[in-house]
Amino acid sequence: MNRPMLGQALSHRRNLYLQSQYAHLRKLATVSGHVPGKAPLSRFEPDQYIDYGDFARKVELGRSFNNRPLTYTEKILVAHMDNIEEEILERGKTLLKLRPRRVACQDATAQMAIIQFMSAGLSSTAAPTSVHCDHLIVGKKGQDVDLPNALNVHKEVFDFLSSACKRFNIGFWKAGAGIIHQSILENYAFPGGLMIGADSHTPNAGGLGMMAVGVGGADAVDVMAGLPFELKAPGVIGVRLKGRLSDWTAPKDVINQLVSILTVKGGTGNIIEFFGPGTQSLSATGMCTITNMGAETGATTSIFPYSEAMNSYLKATHRHEIAAAADFAANELKADEGAEYDQVIEIDLSTLEPHVNGPFTPDLSTPISKFRDVSTQESWPSKLTAGFIGSCTNSSFQDMTRAAGLAKQALTAGLKPKMPLFVSPGSEQTRETLRASGALQVFEELGSTILPNACGPCCGSFDREGMEKASDINFTGRLDGNPATYNFLSSPEMVMAKIFSDDLGFNPMKDSIKKDDGSEFRFSPPEGDPLPAGGYENTDYVFTKPPSNSSERNNVQVQIPESSDRLQRLSPFPPGRKDDIENCVILIKTKGKCTTDHITPAGPWFRFRGHLDNISNNTLIGAVNAENDKTNLVTNWVTGEEGDTPGTARAYKNLGQPWVVIGDYNYGEGSSREHAALQPRYLGCLAIIARSFARIHETNLKKQGVLALTFANEEDYDRVHSSDRISILGISEIAPGKSLTLQCTPTVGKGPAWTAKLNHSMTSEQVEYFKAGSALNLMANRKRESDAATSLL
Ligand code: SF4
Repeated sequence: MNRPMLGQALSHRRNLYLQSQYAHLRKLATVSGHVPGKAPLSRFEPDQYIDYGDFARKVELGRSFNNRPLTYTEKILVAHMDNIEEEILERGKTLLKLRPRRVACQDATAQMAIIQFMSAGLSSTAAPTSVHCDHLIVGKKGQDVDLPNALNVHKEVFDFLSSACKRFNIGFWKAGAGIIHQSILENYAFPGGLMIGADSHTPNAGGLGMMAVGVGGADAVDVMAGLPFELKAPGVIGVRLKGRLSDWTAPKDVINQLVSILTVKGGTGNIIEFFGPGTQSLSATGMCTITNMGAETGATTSIFPYSEAMNSYLKATHRHEIAAAADFAANELKADEGAEYDQVIEIDLSTLEPHVNGPFTPDLSTPISKFRDVSTQESWPSKLTAGFIGSCTNSSFQDMTRAAGLAKQALTAGLKPKMPLFVSPGSEQTRETLRASGALQVFEELGSTILPNACGPCCGSFDREGMEKASDINFTGRLDGNPATYNFLSSPEMVMAKIFSDDLGFNPMKDSIKKDDGSEFRFSPPEGDPLPAGGYENTDYVFTKPPSNSSERNNVQVQIPESSDRLQRLSPFPPGRKDDIENCVILIKTKGKCTTDHITPAGPWFRFRGHLDNISNNTLIGAVNAENDKTNLVTNWVTGEEGDTPGTARAYKNLGQPWVVIGDYNYGEGSSREHAALQPRYLGCLAIIARSFARIHETNLKKQGVLALTFANEEDYDRVHSSDRISILGISEIAPGKSLTLQCTPTVGKGPAWTAKLNHSMTSEQVEYFKAGSALNLMANRKRESDAATSLL
C-alpha cells in the first residue's frame, strides 16, 4: 500500500482508537501546546530553546500515525524525525532521518570531523556543537604536571581545535575542562532531547532522560553540515527496575549485572529503556553511570524516563528553567501505558548485590560474595596492586563523596592504603565542587594521585610508572596498554574499600582488616550525598564561547601549521564520474574478514587522525590479499612490481590510474571509523565491490563518494582475479534500485571478458552524494546555490 493510501486507511481506525485509548494523552498534548514549557537550550546558548509544547505535539502526531502506544525511546525518535507522518516506525526496518539538537566531539574524533567540515566551505555548524579536550591528556603524576605537559605535547592540535571552534561557531572545552560526557551532562543534556556524540559512551546523558547516541565522525560531520542523522529504527529492550539500592550496592552494580545478562553483543540494534518504580529511586548521576556503560552491551543507547532526581540535578547545575519546563511535560517524558518492548528484563534493586566484572571483558560478572572463590578457581592474581576511581562513568559527586566517606572511616581507624590510588574527577566543575565539600581533601590525605579531569587511564592515556603488571579496572590493554594487566570493574565504593587490603578476594561487606595493633577493622556501609547542598560550583572559565557575531567569526584564522605532520587541510574530493568507469585495476582482492581495523589500524597511527595524507599510509595494510594470502603485499598491475598496499594505491593515484577493491562478506565490519572510507577515497579508489557490506561502513563509503557495490551473484567474487581489469557500466543512468554492470577483462590468455550484475543500495540523496563527489560537497553546492539565489533577491 502506498503512503497516502496507508494514511487514509489508518485515519479512521486511528481516530476511534485515540478516542477510546488516548483521551488522557490527547488532553495532555492539547494542554502542552499552550503552556510555556520552553527554556533556553543551555546557559551558553540563551537564544535557542527547548520547546516541550512542540515535543508533545510531535509525540501526539507520531503516536497517532503509528496507531499504538509508544515507548519513551520512540517518543524521542518521532519528536526528532524529518517526516513524522510519512514513515511508520517499524523496529529494525524503517530508516529514520533524525534531527539531533546537539553534536559533541572529543579531541581525537574532532580533528578529522572539523577538517572535513572545513572542506565543505560552510561558515557555521547547522546544529549546536561542542568540542571537549579530554582523550589526549596522559595521566601520570597528577594534574599539576600532566596538564601542562599535555598542553605542550599537543599544542598544535589544541590550537587548531580552539581556533576552528571560534571560526565555525562551536563551543570549546579546553584541556582539563572535563571529560566530554561529564561536561555534556553538567551543561547541555536535558530530558526528551536527542544528541549525537563522536564517542561511544555518549549514552551517559540517558541518565538525564536524553537520547544520546555514540556515532562515528562521519555522522557527526553530517549533522554539523545540516544533513539528517540516519538511523535504522532500533528495537527497544525494556529493563524494569523495582526496589531500592541499599548499603553497599551502587548504580554501577545495576549495569554490571545487566551487561552480564545481555553480554557484550546483546544490545546490538536496540535501545535499552529503563522503566518501573525503581527508576524513581536512583540519583540522576547514578542513572548516568548505568546508561554510560550500557554501551558495553552494544546497544545504540540507553535511557531513563524523567524523574524527580533529574529535576533536582538540573536545579543543582543551575538550570532551573529547564527543570520547570521538563516538569510540565513530565507525562510525555516516559513510555505510554501499554507500550510494548521487544524483550523485558527485570532487576530488583533491593536484592542486588555488589558485583565485580572482568577481567578482560566487562560482561564477566561476579557477585562480591562469590568473588574470592571464583578468583581462586580461575587462578587470577591474588594481589591487587592499584585502584582507579573516576572517568566519565564514575566520577559524580555522589560516587566521590561515598568513596571519600569510606576513606575517612579507614583513616580514622589508622589504616593506610596498601597500593596507589588514581582519581580522575570527571570535570573541573565536579573537582571544584568536591573541593568545596571537603571530599577532594580526603583523597589527598590518602596520598592518591589526582589526575587531570580527563580520560587518562580509561582510554589508555596512562603512563603508569613501576607497575607494568597490575590489576584494576577495564578491558584488555585498556588502562596501561599492557594486555597482561587484569582489570576489574566495580563501584567506586568497592574500589575505595579494596585499596586498604591487597588481597584481591577481600569483601569489605563482611571481611575485617587487621590493624598494626592487632585489632580488627570493618567498614560500615558507605554514605554520601546525591547532590551538593549548595549546588555545583561555577567553573565556566574552562569554556570558550564562540563569537556571536558572524563577521567576527569569519575573521578568525584556523591554525594549521604548514609543517604539521598531525593536521592537514582537506580539499573537496572531485565530483563523481558521469560516464562509465573503465579500465580500473584491482588494488587488492581481500579474502575473509576485512574490518575497519584491517582497513585503517589504530595504535601508532592514532596521532595522524587529523592528517589524511599521513594516515593514508596505513590503508588496507591489515587486509589479506586473496591472491597470495599475505597482508600488505600486492602487485602493481601497471609496473608488474610487488609492493605494500598503501604505497601501490598511492602510485596509482599519482599515475591517474583508477582502481577498485574486491571484497568478501561483510566488508568494513567493526568500528565506525570514517577514515576507513576517507583514505581509499583520498588515494583514488572509485568503487568497493564486495559480496556484502557492514552497514555503517557502506554508508560511510557512500558519504565519501565511493561506489559501494555488491555482486548480485555472490559467486562472481570467485571469478574475479586481482590481475583483471574492471569496468563499471551504467553510471550515466545511476539511480536508486537500478543495478550497474561489471565488465571484467582477464589478462591475456586467461579467458574471455565477462559481465555480471552489480547492485547498490543508494537512495536518491546518496546518488546525489556520488554525483557531487561526497555528501559534504553536495551540502556545499546547495549552500552556494542558496546564497546565490538570496543575493539575487
Ligand atoms: S572516560 Fe573512558 S569511557 Fe569516558 S569518554 Fe573517556 S575514554 Fe570514554
